[in-house]
Amino acid sequence: MSAYRCPVCEYVYDEAAGAPREGFPPGTQWDSIPEGWCCPDCGVREKIDFDEVATTTGGAT
Ligand SMILES: [Zn+2]
Repeated sequence: MSAYRCPVCEYVYDEAAGAPREGFPPGTQWDSIPEGWCCPDCGVREKIDFDEVATTTGGAT
């Protein structure tokens, strides 16, 4: 599972959590998100603009 962050508002889409209010249930992979999907928070960036971020699972302290 990966997470992707909007470069403008720092909204993060986490594959494990999904985005239920957007219609994406938990576990929805990034590849399944429509190309034209816009950031639900700022609405000015699309999927292609998001940056992959490292998940914290098992992360070092
Ligand atoms: Zn945004």
